[in-house]
Amino acid sequence: IRMTFTPVHRRELGITGTIAVLQDVTEQEELEASRREFVANVSHELRTPLTTIKSYAEALDDGALEDPQLAGRFVGVIQNETERMIRLVTDLLHLSRLDSKEALLRKQPIDILEMLEEVTDRFSFQMHQKDIQSVLSVEHDIPPVPLDRDQIDQVLDNVVSNALKYTLEGGTITIAARRSDEHTLAISVSDTGMGIPQRDLDRIFERFYRVDKARSRSMGGTGLGLSIAREIVKAHDGSISLESEVDVGTTVTFTLPMRDKGGEHLEGTD
Ligand code: ADP
Repeated sequence: IRMTFTPVHRRELGITGTIAVLQDVTEQEELEASRREFVANVSHELRTPLTTIKSYAEALDDGALEDPQLAGRFVGVIQNETERMIRLVTDLLHLSRLDSKEALLRKQPIDILEMLEEVTDRFSFQMHQKDIQSVLSVEHDIPPVPLDRDQIDQVLDNVVSNALKYTLEGGTITIAARRSDEHTLAISVSDTGMGIPQRDLDRIFERFYRVDKARSRSMGGTGLGLSIAREIVKAHDGSISLESEVDVGTTVTFTLPMRDKGGEHLEGTD
């Protein structure tokens, strides 16, 4: 229920008071509103590359094909936009699977040091290209942690690729793992990048929320990376949070229970 109070003063009638309006805002209505917003966002995100592809194809048809250099550039744009759409649709499918809980987790006991070393390896070429130093710091004696390796790799890839995108040449990216308490593992990815303004922090895990839409798009972002990460971590009964300071850097931390809830099997169950 939403309550709105409006003060009223009617001096000529000798009345002062307050009008209270009670509104029943059911959970369903809010859900419906956010669904509508999501569909509008998806349509917009798909329409943008499609419009670009259409106009470049038309330009080729209108004569650009005659000029091999121009034609090559236009085809390049069409390829880029197509790849963006594929990424977007892949991310959307992944989210919808996570939403429908269709995706059962296939948990296996995983060696954390090895997993994080492999993430660093996956990104070492890009880091080298941008002259970004990577630091890995893993607490000793962390036992194998039950997790769905493919899904957690996706979380790490999303978070580390953000760190790379939003950090200038010469920066540092630190991946760390430690026990935050007896039963909980905390993995964090810190960068020395541009950071996120305070006013955007609350909404940063929302679908399609970006600090700077144009910049995110030009970097190939879909605006879904952090929402996917949050859904995967939630499915593991963990939590994810982000701390950031503009021009100083950003740290994303997520936690994972180190033991499965009693009675649960470690192996995949589907
Ligand atoms: P995107 O595909 O746009 O990167 P994400 O959901 O992964 O979408 O991130 C949402 C937004 O959060 C990004 O557009 C960017 O504005 C901001 N962001 C995420 N990670 C970082 C980071 N490490 N440094 C600065 N900004 C970040």
